[in-house]
Amino acid sequence: MVAAIDGIGMTSRRTRMRLIQRLREAGIADEQVLTAMADVPRHIFLDEALSHRAYEDTALPIGYSQTLSQPYIVARMTESLMRHKPRKVLELGTGSGYQTAILARLVDQVFSVERIKPLQDRARDRLRQLGYRNTMLKHADGGMGWPEQGPFDGIIVTAAPREIPPELKDQLADGGVIVAPIGEGTQMLVEMVRQGDRFETRDIEPVRFVPLLGGVVR
Ligand code: SAH
Repeated sequence: MVAAIDGIGMTSRRTRMRLIQRLREAGIADEQVLTAMADVPRHIFLDEALSHRAYEDTALPIGYSQTLSQPYIVARMTESLMRHKPRKVLELGTGSGYQTAILARLVDQVFSVERIKPLQDRARDRLRQLGYRNTMLKHADGGMGWPEQGPFDGIIVTAAPREIPPELKDQLADGGVIVAPIGEGTQMLVEMVRQGDRFETRDIEPVRFVPLLGGVVR
């Protein structure tokens, strides 16, 4: 009874599998990531008026001038992160909670920070509704990371800073990875890996994210 679980039913399962096929064609190869993307109902993370577009490979608005990232980008970022087999992950920018849910299926613990309270409240409800118990959410300016919970094996940033904040590097475990969009206007998705005190950065591809902003919204 898929219909009873996700409210849209078999149509959604079929369109979801079509999306997975698209992601494969676009070069996403990590089966674990593809399975997580197939299993998490993206329409739950959108307002009802937009839920029929949930399985298109596009970014969609979630209110407060913010967006749920394009599935391809979520998959690409998750794949980069998972290559380093993290168990404890920090996410900056909970937004809808969709990326949080994907991570919750793949790693032991997800810590996620969001600066806009109403978005965080909604994300919390959805994650609870879907039964994820390994996510911890915090309402704060995440630019400084979450020092009390670090170090993290992986850090994923879903809004673009000008450069990677030094505080995040401090909270990264040895061998850990930060995946983040960097820059203003034209942004580059980068992967930064820590080896002792050395940080090696690699460009993944150009992207467009909302900016990482300071302060909080209540
Ligand atoms: N991962 C989200 C993407 C949301 S868009 C999803 O799957 O839906 C980026 C989010 O980052 C927005 O919700 C925005 O409010 C948040 N954000 C921007 N700057 C932030 C900051 N300094 N600290 C915490 N969250 C921030």
